[in-house]
Amino acid sequence: MTKLRLYNSLSNSLKDFVPIDEARVRLYVCGPTVYASPHVGNARPLVIFDVLFRLLKKLYSNVVYVRNITDVDDKINKRARERGISIRELTDEVISEFHKNAAILGVLSPTYEPRATFHIADIIELIQKLIDNGFAYEVHGHVVFRVRKIPNYGSLSKRHLDDMIAGSRVEVAPFKEDPMDFILWKPSDEGMPAWDSPFGKGRPGWHIECSAMSCKYLGEQFDIHAGGQDLMFPHHENEMAQNFGAFGKPMANYWLHNGMLLVDGQKMSKSLGNIISLNDVLQKYNGEIVRYVLLSSHYQKTLDWTIDVVSQAKQSLNRLYGALKLGGDKSKPREQSERVVEALCGNLNTPLALRVLHEIADEIYRSSDQSEIDELCAALKSEAETLGLLSKSPDAWFKQGAVLISEEEIERLIAERAKAKAEKNFSRADEIRKELFEKNIQIDDTPNGAIWKTV
Ligand SMILES: [Zn+2]
Repeated sequence: MTKLRLYNSLSNSLKDFVPIDEARVRLYVCGPTVYASPHVGNARPLVIFDVLFRLLKKLYSNVVYVRNITDVDDKINKRARERGISIRELTDEVISEFHKNAAILGVLSPTYEPRATFHIADIIELIQKLIDNGFAYEVHGHVVFRVRKIPNYGSLSKRHLDDMIAGSRVEVAPFKEDPMDFILWKPSDEGMPAWDSPFGKGRPGWHIECSAMSCKYLGEQFDIHAGGQDLMFPHHENEMAQNFGAFGKPMANYWLHNGMLLVDGQKMSKSLGNIISLNDVLQKYNGEIVRYVLLSSHYQKTLDWTIDVVSQAKQSLNRLYGALKLGGDKSKPREQSERVVEALCGNLNTPLALRVLHEIADEIYRSSDQSEIDELCAALKSEAETLGLLSKSPDAWFKQGAVLISEEEIERLIAERAKAKAEKNFSRADEIRKELFEKNIQIDDTPNGAIWKTV
């Protein structure tokens, strides 16, 4: 069996993966804070760690995957107030939309998907343990984590505590012993969600819920903790500190972080107005195209979301489904193929795994022997499954709008648009542009006339 190697952010090096218990491999990924529809960048960890889950299931008989839901957070309170609905109504709505989008992206359900508000008792118990162990203190209705008690605080994000204090805009809270200490429990004002606790009526901070829920479902120490690079500090650093304070051992043996997603080379931000919501993307493009884009670049690298990348993904999928269309339905692969698994074992090398699919497609297009084609098609489908791709029938793929319009029809409409423009019938010209765009064809006017591309 191929050995799995993963890049561990904690040691900053590529490591052989050795599970604590081969009979129960345990993975935790930080899930969404459910206050609003996420942007397309949030889909990256969702998809990439779904591939990790699929890979682990190929390699081990029993994999436990926990992906939590943060449904208590000040952003949630604020949004619910703005919309004039209850917190529960808002979180239920965002969670069901999240599940719908995950399914469209071909993401498998995790083994457990715990919600923070259903685990308040576990959170309180863990906080009490931290107080008893001297790693947390109560002050003014708050419970605060004492970071100075952690000898190597900052070891995951490679920061030194004193530099952090000097360089950061730490929240002013005069009751803290140290400005870097973070909140485990805080009192709730009127109208805020609140639970009774030994420390007073209040609600938990964000970091503590991941420690409490991972411990409940995976134990005090587990194999892999993963999430977006943006969560490394302070969230993951603090989760790690909490587990050390409560149980005196490392939380996870391997920490994986995915790189960020840019849009046209820029970071998504409100001020640039370039935030692309996942909902919008999934309305415009087939979920499998979005999944392909997210797998097309290595997970540790920055991924640049552009029209060209989306268009390439779509063409690639057309090519792969086109190859499948040549095969029969009933054929079985000659042998259980493992080439994608092998590629993924090298630190989740998804670009290499996608290349494997294209190499099989090449063979299909080259072959003139139908029984060989049938076998190769079966192999292609089976290899693609580990990536969560090619799960549809080719007919279903081509029918659902991957190819919405023929080239002849595009050329005819472009000619009609040129004529309309020459006759100064600009509304008709605009109408044609829109009509084509709805069929995923974009027209660009150049000095030499209009050109088109798929988007
Ligand atoms: Zn977390």
